[in-house]
Amino acid sequence: MKAKLTFLGTGTSQGIPIIGCRCRVCQSADIRDKRFRAAALVEYGGLTMLIDAGPDFRMQMLAHRVSHLDAIILTHNHKDHTGGLDDVRSFNYIDHKAVDIYCEERVENTIRREYAYAFAEEKYPGCPEWRIHRIDDSPFDVKPNTGYKLDWVENVGYKYTPVEGEAPKPAVRVIPIRGWHAQMPVLGFRFGDIAYITDMSMLPEEEFAKLQGLKHLTLNTVGFKHHHSHFSLQEALDLAARIGAEHTWLTHLSHSVPPHAEFEEMLREKTGGAVLPAYDGLIIED
Ligand SMILES: [Zn+2]
Ligand SMILES: [Zn+2]
Ligand SMILES: [Zn+2]
Repeated sequence: MKAKLTFLGTGTSQGIPIIGCRCRVCQSADIRDKRFRAAALVEYGGLTMLIDAGPDFRMQMLAHRVSHLDAIILTHNHKDHTGGLDDVRSFNYIDHKAVDIYCEERVENTIRREYAYAFAEEKYPGCPEWRIHRIDDSPFDVKPNTGYKLDWVENVGYKYTPVEGEAPKPAVRVIPIRGWHAQMPVLGFRFGDIAYITDMSMLPEEEFAKLQGLKHLTLNTVGFKHHHSHFSLQEALDLAARIGAEHTWLTHLSHSVPPHAEFEEMLREKTGGAVLPAYDGLIIED
């Protein structure tokens, strides 16, 4: 079963450019130096899944003309990964359906607190509608959210057509990868031969077995220096070498790494092209 991943955002929690910053990365004219908050769209087994819904969720959906989501899968409960969840309302209006969110209990607790209005007894009209599916570090199935067809029509917008008697698609199996973001537990995810890891500073020994035979691996780094909750560049390079995926892509990048073209050149020299920086809009397939 083929997996395809589109990077919707490859920036650190403030995105790039950072508001008010005059550094050469934030002022770069290279489109690859414009980075939304980290998120990825995965197409796998006929299902469309979003990993993380940060504050740039709306713009990411628009930029990639995403008109249907089977699931939103959350890595952890930091705001740069959950801050866009109110905007699932657009999918609610179009689909007349709740959006399925897959996350761990602690992430659910944060969502329930931060979006209390969406869980209130008496909701105001137009509140986001979602259904939470609790996961842990065991493999889980994502079920399709089907029963309708949705098309983007140029100059018109979304077109909604109910589908009568549509054959239900099978669920797909996702393998979570447990890691640590300083003291906070985080999940990465493997779909086929693509694994997506972000916001980790430690990957426990027992998780390496789940990362064998990868075509593409994504790892986070915010820069060259040691960081308390993210891999440093050297740590990411060492991990990439140890895991040995055909290609490793760096995400969650900050303005402390050089502009994209320079950074890419530097990594090509260091790794022969095995490890490269990701950029918004990059598509990888296994
Ligand atoms: Zn983050
Ligand atoms: Zn800057
Ligand atoms: Zn985080």
